[in-house]
Amino acid sequence: MQYHSTRGLSPEVDSAQAVLNGLAPDGGLYLPCTLPAFAWKACIQKDTLGMAEKILSAFLPDIPDMGALVKKAYTGKFETEALTPTVPAGRFHVLELFRGPTAAFKDVALSMLPQLMTAAKAAKNDTKDILILTATSGDTGKAALEGFQDVPGIRICVFYPHGGVSDVQRRQMVSQEGSNVTVCAVRGNFDDAQTGVKNIFTACRDKELPVRLSSANSINIGRLVPQITYYFKAYRDLLDAGRITLGDEVNFSVPTGNFGDILAGYLAKMLGLPVGKLICASNANNVLTDFIRTGVYDRRRELHKTDSPSMDILVSSNLERLLYLMSGDSALVAKLMNQLNTQGYYQVPEALLEEIQKQFWAFWCDDSKGAETIARVWKENGYLCDTHTASGWAVAEDYVNQTGDTRPMVVLSTASPYKFPAAVLAAIGETAKGDEFDQLEQLHGATCVPIPKNLAALRTKPELHKGVIDKDEMLDYVLAL
Ligand SMILES: *Cc1c(COP(=O)(O)O)cnc(C)c1O
Repeated sequence: MQYHSTRGLSPEVDSAQAVLNGLAPDGGLYLPCTLPAFAWKACIQKDTLGMAEKILSAFLPDIPDMGALVKKAYTGKFETEALTPTVPAGRFHVLELFRGPTAAFKDVALSMLPQLMTAAKAAKNDTKDILILTATSGDTGKAALEGFQDVPGIRICVFYPHGGVSDVQRRQMVSQEGSNVTVCAVRGNFDDAQTGVKNIFTACRDKELPVRLSSANSINIGRLVPQITYYFKAYRDLLDAGRITLGDEVNFSVPTGNFGDILAGYLAKMLGLPVGKLICASNANNVLTDFIRTGVYDRRRELHKTDSPSMDILVSSNLERLLYLMSGDSALVAKLMNQLNTQGYYQVPEALLEEIQKQFWAFWCDDSKGAETIARVWKENGYLCDTHTASGWAVAEDYVNQTGDTRPMVVLSTASPYKFPAAVLAAIGETAKGDEFDQLEQLHGATCVPIPKNLAALRTKPELHKGVIDKDEMLDYVLAL
């Protein structure tokens, strides 16, 4: 199946090559030239791994043996065989995406991506080693390190913003074992680190490197497609619970940063799944709220550090894919992205904005409203959610209150509350004591919610990666690896 770039200036490649390339040479993102025809009703009859196999092989038919790859990626890695359970909580349902090895939703995709890359490499007879470069706002880094650890033929280098991730997140990354992993802090924020990585790709484009550079960020199509599965799985869970009948539409509220998670929901809808509104929840970095409400994307603003750091983003890369999917106009997308780069903002045409607003609704939630939401959901429903999930919940409530939409609502839960124990403790009225590991125990004592075992084990793990560099040193750092 052929893929092309959202900016239209790169040659078409097959799906295996798109996974290997990550970013298209013209700086755009890969999408299928035509979306696959898909039997969604047959898909939801399958078990979770069966759904993943169907969806992945529909999008990536040039990668053989998908069933075996899916089994290898997921078997024994998650807390439950369902991978991503959907549980009732008060007026909503919560789709728990954090039951994997690193307790954040990125495990779903990053357990799969290494399998896809290795198989794509074999399919293309590509013998060059791959070097994965990734910037992380906290969760991607660890999930990628876990996924790629000791995968033959692939090395991985993760950059995170110095002081910009939680202590649990930092400890998860700097304690990473594996002969093929490098982790380094960058002085600056997440956008600095992400821009640094993009610049390395640009600088190396015409260099003869001994390795092939690729990315684990959600710009890689192999990262996006595995995320479609859990929308199908959630729909199936609501069917099994008797909450809906086949064909009923379901709304999804998604705590959003880079726009990958929510875009997977839109792709699920394009495959036929009866998805109603997709609700884009932001934190105080509400650039997407403004965009979806006005059609103006404006990154010329300060980045706020919030209690939901994985959503502290000014440039949401995957939005570019949505603009292309809805407009079908790569020249327009190239123009808008160029304008974003040079002038810091762009405005989409009125007709495109209307299309976006038909599918998406957006609002945001600051830290204090997030904390109030965590406390209320805990008190009223006995459900403990993390700071990211809280924004999804709060914005879902805003949506229902403002529109009166009665369709069932699924709130995507993107992290375990134990990844952000200090903020969650403060929200439920406890004074956090000691370091983050004491706080895990304290939160457990206060709520009796089980601690994910991989987080509990962190305290005694040695710190193996101590580097801190400036953002303009990133290229040299990578070339010296
Ligand atoms: C990455 C992440 C998000 C944002 O997901 P995107 O796909 O980047 O929009 C939200 N919550 C958590 C906990 C995350 O790790």
